[in-house]
Amino acid sequence: MKIHRAYKFRMYPTKGQEVLIHKTFGCTRFIYNYCLDLKRNNKYLTKFDLMKELPKLKKEYSFLKEVDSCSLQNAITDLMVSFDKQEKEFGGHPKFKKKGEKESFRTSFVTSSYKGTIYENIKVDLKRRVIELPKLKEVKIRGYRNLNNLPGRILNATIKEVGTRFYVSICVEEEIELPGRKNNQAVGIDIGVKNLVVTSNKEYYGNPRYLEKYERKIKRLQQELSRKIKGSKNYIKCKKKIEEVYRKLKNARKKMVEAIVSNITQNYDIIIAENLQVKKMLEKKNNHKSLRKEITNATFSEIIRILKYKCNWLNKKFIQVNSYYPSSQICSRCGNKNEEMKDIRIREYYCSKCGLEIERDYNASINILNEGLKSYNN
Ligand SMILES: [Zn+2]
Repeated sequence: MKIHRAYKFRMYPTKGQEVLIHKTFGCTRFIYNYCLDLKRNNKYLTKFDLMKELPKLKKEYSFLKEVDSCSLQNAITDLMVSFDKQEKEFGGHPKFKKKGEKESFRTSFVTSSYKGTIYENIKVDLKRRVIELPKLKEVKIRGYRNLNNLPGRILNATIKEVGTRFYVSICVEEEIELPGRKNNQAVGIDIGVKNLVVTSNKEYYGNPRYLEKYERKIKRLQQELSRKIKGSKNYIKCKKKIEEVYRKLKNARKKMVEAIVSNITQNYDIIIAENLQVKKMLEKKNNHKSLRKEITNATFSEIIRILKYKCNWLNKKFIQVNSYYPSSQICSRCGNKNEEMKDIRIREYYCSKCGLEIERDYNASINILNEGLKSYNN
């Protein structure tokens, strides 16, 4: 089976390269916003129409010629994707990009031949730990110490600046062999705030307490930021600091989630989870948008995201219970419904019909298992 896998390296550009990377951020943002404006006024413009603008724009704004042209085309591709997504989900048009917000650009792998010599625009040499990128030439990279070669064909490379660091994420198409299934054991998992993951075999996984350390730090820095003059040197410095803490938080979270997922995929062949969108709707509304909520939601989505692709690579079946199934309100023994359980503060499930007393999330995970298996067996 062919899969796409990203290899993310830290990048160490020289001062000159750093300037060019910043220029490329600026140029791709310029193209994105320029085309967004065009398309906002004429929604029938196609990707092809917008691509045709590029040569004209390059004549008018010569700075666009200084950067990798592939990254400019990709800015248009990304814009089209955002438009489609926006239309499907909320209507309206995507937001304009702002300087200093999630800056990145992507260049695609292209080969060309000239007088019998083949040229490749992206080259990675892991022995010398360098990547060659269009216009930037060789940039030092670090990461994947045990890897001597990228195990497949390069598709594209995304260059990002996070806080004070630069990264390049290289997307590679790899051929992997699907492992056979082990035991056909199925498991239901409940994802929640109190216990991050609870399985229908009564396994409890972590409570992301230590993520709160980062949360407190971000909060403090955000307060600090609000006291600074927007756009000032200290403001930018503080913003970079916040990005840095977010980066650490994301890394810690990814490690934790990967460990949980690998444990589950080692033991089971069929993994059933619920639809988080539905879960959010069914639980008592708590509408104020807090940082804690933002972090929790991101952690939940990360669990599903990693479960999905790991199951794909490991030949496991991943099922998401898609109906509006109130997993925490149903008695896992007799099927009776207890609406009081909408309140997530109630940790023990008690069934007035059959007398079952069971921990809330464990009960939910059994329901998720049963519900998932219904759709699997049909
Ligand atoms: Zn019952």
